[in-house]
Amino acid sequence: MNIILLGAPGAGKGTQAEVISEAAGIPQISTGNILREAVKNGTEYGLKAKDAMDSGALVSDDIVIGILKDRIAKDDCKGGFILDGFPRTDVQAQALDDMGVRIDKVVEIAVEDSAIQKRMSGRRVCENCGASYHIDYKPTEIDGKCDKCDGKTVQRKDDRPDTVLERLSVYHKQTAPLKDYYGKQGKLVSVAGREEISETSAAVLEALGI
Ligand code: ADP
Ligand code: ZN
Repeated sequence: MNIILLGAPGAGKGTQAEVISEAAGIPQISTGNILREAVKNGTEYGLKAKDAMDSGALVSDDIVIGILKDRIAKDDCKGGFILDGFPRTDVQAQALDDMGVRIDKVVEIAVEDSAIQKRMSGRRVCENCGASYHIDYKPTEIDGKCDKCDGKTVQRKDDRPDTVLERLSVYHKQTAPLKDYYGKQGKLVSVAGREEISETSAAVLEALGI
């Protein structure tokens, strides 16, 4: 099964992608995590992507499409995958179609902008493995330490309030229209993103029939 997760920044796509990945036994592909890793390692496309990411803008379609192509060509994607944070523009959605990728379901995690702004300040990410946490809704067992790998959990630079506003505006302009694109194909299901993460997960898994 090939699944796309859509939703505003901070809606909880990453967390739900982890849940689906475990339940369905298919990998989660998070373009944001792959890009942050590239920035950390100072690779060529990491250097190109950094400024856009820090300012809350999108990284160029060329770079992200290239990353995605390489990633889904790997063996572990043969039985399906979950796309978390891709596509984000109509050019990217078109690229998936051109690659011959068949999408089965698109799950939108719907959260109001006002709730997003509140949530973002508590968000933390593991600087080593990219796992996501929230100080109130999904705390780590040990403060500041990743449950999975013991890495340090930190606030992302682009989770600062002014950058969050910019990312929300980018989402509404460039990514939200994809709801129509997949809606017309009968693939879109919308799930309300709740404060209680397990409630959202239950609704997401039900929508996917998992
Ligand atoms: P969130 O979903 O919380 O906004 P992500 O981790 O998915 O965060 O993405 C972080 C940043 O990485 C984005 O703001 C953007 O700069 C870049 N990025 C990730 N995925 C894409 C994509 N598909 N196209 C363009 N830029 C992307
Ligand atoms: Zn970790």
